[in-house]
Amino acid sequence: MSFVVTARMPDGRGRVGLLRTPHGDIATPAFIPVGTRASVKAVLPESMRELGAQALLANAYHLYLQPGADIVDAAGGLGAFMNWSGPTFTDSGGFQVLSLGVGFKKILAMDVQGRERDDVVAPGKDRLAHVDDDGVTFKSHLDGTVHRFTSEISMRVQHQLGADIIFAFDECTTLMNTYEYQVRALERTTAWARRCLVSHSELTRDSPARPPQALFAVIQGAQYEDLRRRSARELSGMSVDGRGFEGFGIGGALEKPRLGEIVGWVTDELPADRPRHLLGIGDPDDLFTGIEAGADTFDCVAPSRVARNAALHAPTGRFNITGADYRRQFVPIDDECDCYTCTHYTRAYLHHAFKSKEMIAFTLATIHNERFIVGLVDRIRAAIASGDYPDFKREFLGRYYGRVRR
Ligand SMILES: [Zn+2]
Repeated sequence: MSFVVTARMPDGRGRVGLLRTPHGDIATPAFIPVGTRASVKAVLPESMRELGAQALLANAYHLYLQPGADIVDAAGGLGAFMNWSGPTFTDSGGFQVLSLGVGFKKILAMDVQGRERDDVVAPGKDRLAHVDDDGVTFKSHLDGTVHRFTSEISMRVQHQLGADIIFAFDECTTLMNTYEYQVRALERTTAWARRCLVSHSELTRDSPARPPQALFAVIQGAQYEDLRRRSARELSGMSVDGRGFEGFGIGGALEKPRLGEIVGWVTDELPADRPRHLLGIGDPDDLFTGIEAGADTFDCVAPSRVARNAALHAPTGRFNITGADYRRQFVPIDDECDCYTCTHYTRAYLHHAFKSKEMIAFTLATIHNERFIVGLVDRIRAAIASGDYPDFKREFLGRYYGRVRR
């Protein structure tokens, strides 16, 4: 893998770059759609390619449980298994092990209300994950069987899955944890990162015929500046046999109003010549904020998840297509959009498909939302390169959040 920065914002941390992987190039900033279980739900990989997705991200935890990383390995790796020839990412499983383990799927969206607890579990849920200094023991959300993830197991699983970009195993905390716990978790994440580097190096050496995989460390530290900066410094300075991390993920609990500030602390500390991936971010305003703070790539399940709930993006904001107003609107979801859905189907048809629970509703809505978010980041990239970023941002955000939707 290689990465070059080709343009920068004149007054800010944002940049344009090119990330080269064994399965193709990614022009950055880029939004990477998520196919959690080796499938972007309801959409063919060919459609993802056509709508402009440059890479896909799948989840090590889910694929480890089902079908098993050995099956994906035997198929020739994640890309071959899911019929996607482009670049792929897998995340380490740390986030899923811990967030599913305490019953919170959306740590970013959690309402913390000043509570601080280290034993926090979602209401009505049993704790399914236990962390110790060596790793995490968890119960499968599928069948309740007990499993264990360590740095070495996460690396072995991610090598079997074979994605171009993989992530070090990390402990993902919540905003509710105490500062003392955040320190302990950070120290564990740093120790696990070193073990991941060692394990990654051995696994790479043992399989010289495979396309090389790039290992990214994950910066934690929640909402604390000293911890975020410390994590970024320690992980970017780490190397084993002269080899360090090829890029960095920025993970964990991120308070939306402070997203730019927190990501900025981290990117200030990271080497400028290596790519940074902001994990789990996909709302339009957050993408602008993350790019300005110096992040290069992003992934999020949000575009497809909200699509399946009939919430569609348009330049004037997100709206729900099941509203009665749309019954007779024989126009595209977004008349400025070039996606397959907008060039072939009407709002009236989408409304009907959702109301009648036709499966095609999920497909058409997901194609549009993924195109909208992938295309938004493409336009941000072009605007940075041409120097029009401030105007583009003002116009886009003004329309999207500024007024009541149609
Ligand atoms: Zn569209």
